Amino acid sequence: MAGKLRAAAASKDVFRRIRDVVGAKGVVPDSEAAPFLADQRGLYRGRAALIVRPASVEEVAEVVRLCAGAQVPVVPQGGNTGLVGASVPTESGGEIVVNLSRLNRIREIDALNNTLSAEAGCILADVRAAAAAAGRHFPLSMGSEGSCEIGGVLSTNAGGTEVLRYGMARDLVLGVEVVLPDGRVLDLMRRLRKDNTGYDLKQLFLGAEGTLGIVTAAVLKLFPKPVETATALVALRGLDSVPEFLARARAAANDAVTSFEYISGFGLSLVLSHMPGAENPLGRVFDHLVLIELSSADATSGLSERLERLLAAALETGIVTDAALARSEAQRAALWRLRETVPEAQTREGASIKHDVSVPVSAVPAFIEQASAAVTAALPGIRPVAFGHAGDGNIHFNLTQPEGADGAAFLARWADFNRLVHDIALAQGGSISAEHGIGRLKREEFARTAAPLEIEIMRRLKAALDPHGIMNPGKLL
Ligand SMILES: Cc1cc2nc3c(=O)[nH]c(=O)nc-3n(C[C@H](O)[C@H](O)[C@H](O)COP(=O)(O)OP(=O)(O)OC[C@H]3O[C@@H](n4cnc5c(N)ncnc54)[C@H](O)[C@@H]3O)c2cc1C
Repeated sequence: MAGKLRAAAASKDVFRRIRDVVGAKGVVPDSEAAPFLADQRGLYRGRAALIVRPASVEEVAEVVRLCAGAQVPVVPQGGNTGLVGASVPTESGGEIVVNLSRLNRIREIDALNNTLSAEAGCILADVRAAAAAAGRHFPLSMGSEGSCEIGGVLSTNAGGTEVLRYGMARDLVLGVEVVLPDGRVLDLMRRLRKDNTGYDLKQLFLGAEGTLGIVTAAVLKLFPKPVETATALVALRGLDSVPEFLARARAAANDAVTSFEYISGFGLSLVLSHMPGAENPLGRVFDHLVLIELSSADATSGLSERLERLLAAALETGIVTDAALARSEAQRAALWRLRETVPEAQTREGASIKHDVSVPVSAVPAFIEQASAAVTAALPGIRPVAFGHAGDGNIHFNLTQPEGADGAAFLARWADFNRLVHDIALAQGGSISAEHGIGRLKREEFARTAAPLEIEIMRRLKAALDPHGIMNPGKLL
């Protein structure tokens, strides 16, 4: 009893000292805590002993040092737009949320070196805007870019709509600064394209979902700013035309193919039914569509003509059955809205079970066909909505409840459908998480499907860096 009282008094003292470190502005009052405790989808709602918003790297380091001393678990949090429940505390009530949003300085833009150094709390859209203002391009783009932050984006190794050309977050980082689980600051803020001095430690923290430390800043790669884009919504003859049309596009336009997004006909019909102002430029809804975008930093590259020639040739061979080219920036934005509002439209149609899988691009048709057949056999009337970054082999294979079914009863089968769909992706040489990570949502599935040796190595790395297991417990591993 005396031991318990002493422990309670000690953690009370730690929380008081942490409050002193961040000051009044850095503590979120209970009345404003709710948005920091629940995830985007409302699947997870946790409790926290304290929510702090440090304003400098020194404050983050001191907070973590105090937590390490008292073994208080820490949940790093950015924009809280993650989709796997990794950025919110568990229900234990003993964790501290360290929200990085106030660490939001762009430290440097080095236009000649093509790098931008940004703190973890910088909003992704602001980083893209700062790069554009310097005549450069930061090529991470996704639906959440107005609220997700650099620290979160790197910690989830986010993807988005330009991966085909520029790679995932992991490919766009030259350096990082990390507060380790003992409170020390690891400064790897190098701006080098070549650096072969031993293990590439920065990569450990990218995609680690906050389980190995807190990213406080990063050096990001910049690229020439695209000045010309050509965008089209394309109806394909069948699913097997998806990889074939991509291969033709890349042969015709090389690196200019920036985005290649699949939308199933059912997905498009939901957008047209539920999203105000959505219009189908093709007149009728085809079964299989892609949104293709080419971009170039060369104003004389004649991209629109190249895209038109590509489409004309594909129409002639029959793999493309119809296409609508964007003739203005407004039309381009309208085409992108059709793609980006698929998840929202799906939500309005009823309960949905989500998957974020990847397979080799060549296996996309087989995956969609097999997974659709398997879920329909398991629940007749279920409505698969496949869409996503097909050019990266990344399909969001979401399942809408049968019409008139009970949503809660449908969602109760989430784990069963996950298992079914994941096994099909794995059989195609795929992954159960292409871009959203593992978090809490896929922890069991990850443990079930990963090779034991992979898990063992991950656990050893975790134990080496975080021996007391205070960084984001209950997530990923
Ligand atoms: C509408 C919408 C569209 C999306 N589209 C895409 C998409 O196309 N591609 C894609 O990849 N993802 C997409 N996402 C999910 C994506 O993971 C997030 O938007 C983004 O990467 C997370 O950033 P965040 O700042 O919100 O991080 P959070 O949600 O706050 O955190 C995510 C994870 O990172 C950890 N973390 C956060 N900050 C730090 C830090 N500084 N140091 C260490 N760990 C940290 C958290 O603990 C958690 O594990 C989308 C989400 C939404 C809501």
